[in-house]
Amino acid sequence: MGNGIVKNLKFIWDCILQVIYPTDEKCILCAEDTNEDNLICTECERSIKFCEDIFTIEQNNTRFRYYSISYYSGNMMELILRLKYKSDFRAGEVIAKYMIDVIKSNDIQFDFISYIPMTKTSMRKRGYNQSEYLATVISNEINRPVIHCLDKIKQTKDQIGLNGIERWNNVLNSFKIIDKNIIINKKILLVDDVLTTGATAFSCAYELLKCNAGEITILTGAKSRV
Ligand SMILES: [Zn+2]
Repeated sequence: MGNGIVKNLKFIWDCILQVIYPTDEKCILCAEDTNEDNLICTECERSIKFCEDIFTIEQNNTRFRYYSISYYSGNMMELILRLKYKSDFRAGEVIAKYMIDVIKSNDIQFDFISYIPMTKTSMRKRGYNQSEYLATVISNEINRPVIHCLDKIKQTKDQIGLNGIERWNNVLNSFKIIDKNIIINKKILLVDDVLTTGATAFSCAYELLKCNAGEITILTGAKSRV
């Protein structure tokens, strides 16, 4: 529990530092100079393999559309790992900015933003939910609210090391809608950090759909090539 609180305090401290000391125009990955107020330099951006396509995840005749900034490799992988495991919220800011670019360039329409939830135990350990952080940064820029409409009710095994079918079984019935009324007929942008088989994002989107949400679009920081 203590670890989570420390990370949460680090987040608040980072926010305070941002106000006192504005960005010093150095790349957060390699410390080289950057253009204007970019947090990463063009050289570091070059190793990001941006996705051009719109993807779908399909299971039992239900299909969801999803967008991904890039493939899970190079510096996008580095940014995600920093956000997820090192409480580096400036890395999260970079990812969120790319997500906003995807939303704008594809003209994705939605009423509100939601995100892949974590269990209460995981939240206590990490101190923050990286997908919620991304959703919040997007919300501030796009002017759509973040709604916490899903709970993760089952502690699942880490998806790493599980094969495709095991991943689907692992997340089955792991999520629950908190308030059905707020999602009815609403267009929802569902934010995730990494999408591998898509089992987790699909399970969340499927819960929303079962409770009569309108259109659900998934947006992830990176996708694996599987
Ligand atoms: Zn750099």
